[in-house]
Amino acid sequence: MNTTYYVINDPADVRLRQVGTLLKDGGVVAIPTETVYGLAANALDSAAVEKIFAAKGRPADNPLIVHIHDRAQWAPLVAEIPPAAAALADAFWPGPLTIILKKSALVPDVTSGGLDTVAVRMPSHPIARAILQACDVPLAAPSANTSGKPSPTDGAAVREDMDGKIDAIVDSGPCSVGVESTVVSLAGDVPRLLRPGGVTPEMLESVLGSIDIDDAVFHRLAAGKTAASPGMKYKHYAPSAQVILLKGDFAAYRAFLAAHKEPGTVALCFDGEETALPVPAVSYGAATDSAAQGQRLFEALRELDKQGAKTVYARFPSQDGFGLAVFNRLIRAAAFRVIEL
Ligand code: AMP
Ligand code: MG
Repeated sequence: MNTTYYVINDPADVRLRQVGTLLKDGGVVAIPTETVYGLAANALDSAAVEKIFAAKGRPADNPLIVHIHDRAQWAPLVAEIPPAAAALADAFWPGPLTIILKKSALVPDVTSGGLDTVAVRMPSHPIARAILQACDVPLAAPSANTSGKPSPTDGAAVREDMDGKIDAIVDSGPCSVGVESTVVSLAGDVPRLLRPGGVTPEMLESVLGSIDIDDAVFHRLAAGKTAASPGMKYKHYAPSAQVILLKGDFAAYRAFLAAHKEPGTVALCFDGEETALPVPAVSYGAATDSAAQGQRLFEALRELDKQGAKTVYARFPSQDGFGLAVFNRLIRAAAFRVIEL
């Protein structure tokens, strides 16, 4: 397939109308959002949505997030909008928050991965919003990577994975948040955080009171246990290299690397630490800046592969606030391997 490549930074660009028409007619297009690039298709068109699963190699039981630009598009997708969901939308939409509710009959099973719930988000990225307006249908859009690989946070990473597999790519430069949206379920008895992201647990609690945090945010899913969020059971965000997190201070980290500097060993460190280390290094943001770490992490994971890294020893990030989202992605990239120094 010939993939049309657009570079668009102006939401008034007339080519966005072509993109809208393509999507309305059942095409698949990679689009920018503030979190990561999404692989979009008409969420209500089963055949279009199936093309997303095919392009990504995504397991059919892993549901997609449905994107809207207007609150009026939400009610037809869900059984009902409880007051807590409306309050979350008031507080955080448009933005990096996905809300799960019981679905309506309008949402095809392929979009919801066979579940009786649907995940909905209203993105804030001006180009994403312009595309949603132009096509005027809700767009199912998982991250625009090959399933299992790190999510793409710029147009080049999308091209690496999707060139030749989809109708078009809209490149609007780097994403500002850099990790996928926060996913919260209001479909059960209590609000439950299924995936941390740009809207932190504290921000959710400021609206909802207390929330449950799903075990899968921190731990590998126990064998035989059903995942509340099917995506959590799959291998994720992984570069080809084996990643191991090292928990300890910088002196201990450097000493460990000095004792393990085999060929193919690369450090995934914080900014400014590179030159003090005895092995090649890629950095993923400043030690005390979770926002910078989130914005940089996936790009850094892709860079490790380009360097031909075999074993990656990564600095352990803070889990406070937005840091929880960074930790959640990195611990999956490391397949939960942690060494305490
Ligand atoms: P992605 O779009 O690639 O960021 O992945 C979407 C994430 O949201 C995956 O982890 C899905 O399993 C999760 N998700 C989407 N819809 C639902 C749903 N209805 N119930 C639970 N998790 C969901
Ligand atoms: Mg994804």
